[in-house]
Amino acid sequence: MKRIAILGSTGSIGRSTLNVIENNPERFQLLAMAAGSNTEAALIDARRWKPKVLSLASEQDAEKVRKQLKAEGLSGIEVVYGQAGTVSVATHPEVDFVVSAIVGVAGLKATYEAVRAGKEIGLANKECLVAAGELITAEARRQGKPLLPIDSEHNAVHQCMRGGRMNEVERVWLTASGGPFLSTPKSEFEKITVEQALNHPTWKMGQRITIDSATLMNKGFEVIEACRLFNMPPERVSVVVHPQSTIHSLVEFNDGSILAQLSVTDMRLPILYALTYPERISSDLRFNVLDLKRLDFCPPDLGKFPCLRLAYEAAEAGGAKTVALNAADEVAVAAFLKKEIGFADISKVVEQTIRETSDRHPESIEEVLAIDAEARNLAGRKLVQPLTR
Ligand code: NAD
Ligand code: MG
Repeated sequence: MKRIAILGSTGSIGRSTLNVIENNPERFQLLAMAAGSNTEAALIDARRWKPKVLSLASEQDAEKVRKQLKAEGLSGIEVVYGQAGTVSVATHPEVDFVVSAIVGVAGLKATYEAVRAGKEIGLANKECLVAAGELITAEARRQGKPLLPIDSEHNAVHQCMRGGRMNEVERVWLTASGGPFLSTPKSEFEKITVEQALNHPTWKMGQRITIDSATLMNKGFEVIEACRLFNMPPERVSVVVHPQSTIHSLVEFNDGSILAQLSVTDMRLPILYALTYPERISSDLRFNVLDLKRLDFCPPDLGKFPCLRLAYEAAEAGGAKTVALNAADEVAVAAFLKKEIGFADISKVVEQTIRETSDRHPESIEEVLAIDAEARNLAGRKLVQPLTR
């Protein structure tokens, strides 16, 4: 029986993980969970799963949930909150496997502490690899534990890599759906609405990653994620637009062979793979090869999607530049969702913030979080100044 903690239990990946656990009760037990500020959803989950520890984002939310659970006679569930709460979920001594699926840098400390505690990790939270991938992967190597990617592209790469040796890998090809604006002319980007940007063609996900998919920043983050997970330089990680999202990624080997992974567009599959690795177990997540009518590919347009270019530049520099890339994007996407800036302004806020961030290489998570705070500040100031067009 694998005992599991979920960071981000009320989100899209969190819910899919709970579904995988529910479908395999003989293999998995939910032991601890961290939610955000959706107390209603957290309460429903607490009644259903009776975790040993439940974390909420704020003290107020935790108090509300604690009182309600006590009134219902469920006082055996320890209710905690904040960053310390997420860390106690991630490092609970009885937990074997941590699914890291909080969105953004809010999940960084808990993910890092889970690695340090020697837990097996299923990693969905790509932002923590963008901000602190060098530190996290070094610690995982020290612990001798794999970081199992849940992000569908990296999960596909992980599967394909099993077809050869690391030193035989020549190139990683990350596929990108291209998002909802693949064929929208750049001249119309100024007018893109929040509703249009939230309408992803192939995946149903949380708001931040959906907007990041529309700007292609998500693919940029994934380039950095791939560099760090698979120890590849950015020039050997390529992006190819593949609108059907059927091939989740490809690995090219030195003999010219290219391995690809195909499956349904359902995150429960990469989650199941991570939870059962190195085994595979049967599932009903089937893809019918006879339904495969066509597979299209084209190169990404870096002129139209500057976020992808910015991510490659940050990947090349590493350190503080990638911390700022994520921090500025978090700030800019939140402002776009509140309709404070336009769609085309997101890349401008990010570019200006990165430019003003100094080149240094943080040596601890605390240093990463300090650079993150500085970059958020810088990006916040860009929102109130007129953005250069
Ligand atoms: P989501 O917005 O649906 O869920 C985010 C979760 O994080 C929620 O449970 C929320 O309550 C929690 N959270 C947010 N702030 C928090 C805080 N301060 N403290 C504690 N919890 C907090 O997002 P999602 O789509 O599930 O994505 C989660 C992560 O997985 C992201 O990093 C995303 O990039 C990555 N990812 C998601 C998908 C997908 O298909 N949804 C695919 C690949 C990677
Ligand atoms: Mg992905």
